[in-house]
Amino acid sequence: MRAMRMVAVAIAGMTIAAGAMASLARTGSAAALEHGRLRLFYVQKPIGLETYEITRAGDAVELKSDFDFTDRGGRVQLAATLRAARDLTPLRFRATGKSYRFVNVDSEITIDGRAALVRADGATETVTVPQTFFTVDGYAPFAVQMLLVRYWRQHGRPPVIQTVPGRPVNDVVIEHRGRETIRIGPQSLVLDRYAIDGVVWGRETLWLDDSGAIVAAITRAGGLGFEAVREDLEPMLGDFVQRSIRDRLGDLEAITRSVPPLRRGSFALVGATVVDATGRPPVHDAAILIRNGRIADVGPRADVSVPAGTPIADVTGKTVIPGLWDMHTHATQIEWAPVYMAAGVTTVRDMGNELEFVTALRDAISSGRAVGPRVLAAGLVDGGGPDAFGVVYAATPEAAPAVVAKYHDAGFEQIKIYSLLTPAIVEAICSEAHRFGMTVTGHVPNGMTIDQAVSAGMDQIAHLAIRGDAGSDDVNRTIANLKARGTVIDPTQSWNELLGHAAGTPIAAFQPGVTKIPPPLNRLFSNAGVAGIDAATARARVERGLRIVKALHDAGVPVVAGTDEGIPGHSVYREIELYVEAGFTPLEALQAATIVSARAMKLDREAGTIEPGKRADLAILDANPIDEIRNIRTVRWSIAGGRMYESSALWKSVRFQP
Ligand SMILES: [Zn+2]
Repeated sequence: MRAMRMVAVAIAGMTIAAGAMASLARTGSAAALEHGRLRLFYVQKPIGLETYEITRAGDAVELKSDFDFTDRGGRVQLAATLRAARDLTPLRFRATGKSYRFVNVDSEITIDGRAALVRADGATETVTVPQTFFTVDGYAPFAVQMLLVRYWRQHGRPPVIQTVPGRPVNDVVIEHRGRETIRIGPQSLVLDRYAIDGVVWGRETLWLDDSGAIVAAITRAGGLGFEAVREDLEPMLGDFVQRSIRDRLGDLEAITRSVPPLRRGSFALVGATVVDATGRPPVHDAAILIRNGRIADVGPRADVSVPAGTPIADVTGKTVIPGLWDMHTHATQIEWAPVYMAAGVTTVRDMGNELEFVTALRDAISSGRAVGPRVLAAGLVDGGGPDAFGVVYAATPEAAPAVVAKYHDAGFEQIKIYSLLTPAIVEAICSEAHRFGMTVTGHVPNGMTIDQAVSAGMDQIAHLAIRGDAGSDDVNRTIANLKARGTVIDPTQSWNELLGHAAGTPIAAFQPGVTKIPPPLNRLFSNAGVAGIDAATARARVERGLRIVKALHDAGVPVVAGTDEGIPGHSVYREIELYVEAGFTPLEALQAATIVSARAMKLDREAGTIEPGKRADLAILDANPIDEIRNIRTVRWSIAGGRMYESSALWKSVRFQP
């Protein structure tokens, strides 16, 4: 899971005095028109509470909401007020605090006719708003989204509703998805289900009852599933999750229909330079024959016999590489699937997700119903206790077999160790996983060193958990130990760089992809970075990591490219570029994201290079990354399992610029 511990992300931001929060927490005061309490869950683990009340304020109404949770020991609090006219047209909006561990919120909007004075992230601007508009800043608090839906219903259900703060406004799409009955004991409750797209990147689900009060909501925070359920309906959480998953997969199937493959079945790619990632020199003016999802033949054009009648895709001047791998993702929303395919990523390893979601996504893609990369999954397990992460725990070694069996039965390739496990439990999980032919990756648990983690049986390590400097005796000893044991490292250097950059340095200075992401993601990342350090200090930290990555590589420890999400799709490119900055050749960096990853997952016989018999998982680029690694960003088409897609259409399908 996102390596929050790596950098103390001291983002300049506001914290709210505990007293102010406590006063907001009281609900149901005499003047309240409405009030509500929602239990908050992160990846289905109960972590907090949102309370809200709506009062009359003269001719207006005022919503006050207090959103408060604790995740892995860190408290997150957000206070929001929204004053609106009787028809719910916003008059004044204010949100202060945090909506997620590293996401600061400090925004204030004052409306005067068509002019909105927007103060957000320290900048103030006047934005002209249309006749129908709303104020909402991120997924939290849910009560604001409840009023957004009510506003939309009262204003003729427009196909698009513009919201501030945005860039300068956001386009939000709300759809009524149907009415459904939820049963709890003898009670049955009829709810309206809404899909909301654009408040955050990706679609959310909101349920309102017949009075318009929010009953449940499912969104994503920091990439992972975040749920809210009316307090008395907590036992129905799993039901809401399942309904939301069905909704989202329906959305992905609709996206898939809107961007059909350009080619499938049998066809040949002719005229490109092929960099097959085996280490052999590039083949110029090559032909690749694809049949039934596999590479039937590849080589110089003259040596490949293409049967008469086979459709030919002329890719003269382009470069074909194996489809890329992202070995550290959390593919927790359907929008990741088109993003990865657009970026040329045809295989991802999921490193922690809702089991129900990731298996549904994996199966929709593998069955051909949905566009997306092949999904391999590592099942997350943490120790017990209040600070544990997720909902799968092993508090004792005796709990290991049930955890491993649960993931094995669900078709997971790996187990992912999380931070609170003790050495004895890690050992029990590893030996049980190995018995099933599964491998084990993950964090080095708190209180263990990387050497202890691999001694306990971990086959792979996520993030660069090596203290000290490259070249020191300690680091050399650790690297020799990893080499001897065949440990695979997924160092997530692009993630460290993204979170650890100096707050004053624009992300675009090292990650040009940030200019292409949708506005809600842009707002999220515009707050990232470390305050109080300069660019040189941030860069020195990155380089310390890169020197260790290079030392691992030189020693023969397999390094695989993983992002921990970051800037969707684009962080894969950055990870590869950073390996070249570390001193890998461009080919070696490309191999880290293809064949070395495939080998780490024991799939190198069927993927990872461009060779006959392997899966037709390919990326077709405008320029050759072997000449200049930045050319990795020029993906024009992607092919997964023999289906060829145009990148630009896929990017646009999830609101990215191509
Ligand atoms: Zn992660």
